[in-house]
Amino acid sequence: MAKAHKLDCEAAEADCRFIIQSENETEAIELARDHMKAVHGKEFSDEELQEKHLQVV
Ligand SMILES: [Zn+2]
Repeated sequence: MAKAHKLDCEAAEADCRFIIQSENETEAIELARDHMKAVHGKEFSDEELQEKHLQVV
């Protein structure tokens, strides 16, 4: 099975149920960055998202 990159926003932001899962890491990072900015008003670099928030499942 292909690996997927997953952001479980609840782990980063309490009360947010947003989950991203994609087999494409670049896409997962873009979606995560857009979500963090649009919903939480926070800007993360690709590296921060990749290291701190994305899980490989
Ligand atoms: Zn969120």
